[in-house]
Amino acid sequence: MKFRSLMLVAAILLAPFGAVFAQGQQPLFSTRKVDGTDNVYIFRYQGHQSMFVVTPKGVIATDPIGRYRPEAVTTYLAEIKKVTDQPVKYLIYSHPHYDHIAGAKPFKDAGARIIAHKNTKARLVKLQKANALMSSVVLPDETVDAKKTISLGGTSLELSHVGNNHSDGMLVMRLPKEKLLFVVDFIPVEGVQFRNMPDNGSPLEFEESIKKVIAMDWDRYITGHPSPGGRLGTKQDAKDHLAYLQDLSAEVRKAADAGKCIDPAMKEIKLAKYEKWGQYEAWLPMNIERYCYWWSNGY
Ligand SMILES: [Zn+2]
Repeated sequence: MKFRSLMLVAAILLAPFGAVFAQGQQPLFSTRKVDGTDNVYIFRYQGHQSMFVVTPKGVIATDPIGRYRPEAVTTYLAEIKKVTDQPVKYLIYSHPHYDHIAGAKPFKDAGARIIAHKNTKARLVKLQKANALMSSVVLPDETVDAKKTISLGGTSLELSHVGNNHSDGMLVMRLPKEKLLFVVDFIPVEGVQFRNMPDNGSPLEFEESIKKVIAMDWDRYITGHPSPGGRLGTKQDAKDHLAYLQDLSAEVRKAADAGKCIDPAMKEIKLAKYEKWGQYEAWLPMNIERYCYWWSNGY
């Protein structure tokens, strides 16, 4: 017993400094192959993650996740290199939010073609002169409107715009053969929405976009932030999230009719069914705020 404890202490002391992510006990980054696939990987760095697909003709990567940490991007490329010598041919941006897409320069320098939704490019162009953080954002080389399929080395990746949700430049990425999706930020697994759902034009359109995703042909989805236990989302998770938004909307609508929007509703409305979900305590009031604006102020 004593010997084992000593070994444990030695292992911790000998672990490379920085290999353990300070806020938790999980490593700073990890790369894993998605179960049941031959060539689909999840790269995680701290609290963000991306999907990459390896083919005999090159790699399709997504979101560089490099805001404030260029080392995440070089680590991402190094992790891909451990799996294959093939070059990264494409880098797909899920949506324009910097925490997911800043830092793409090393990918671009390595020859990757950057693809994003047309609204993402338009947003980034507008921000270009206004914001110092934009210096670490690389503009897309090519844009997608409603839909586009990328084919490389026997793999197809379908990029779809399903409307305005967490962003009006969101692309849902689907691997038809693997029945897998990469869905960033708008369908959390067992979690409420982010704060007061900024960058969203209409919560009802948001709900419609989730219905469109549910209607697609797929079995599991990878999220842009690690889900509980690192698991993938299922259709049931997407349906549960839609139900959450619909329940929230109905409750807030009642509160709006009773004159309780915005502040009293933020304090009073509880959705006990979802109280175990991630960020329930912190962000439910702000989710309520978003729907209060919709149902009591018309925006
Ligand atoms: Zn986002």
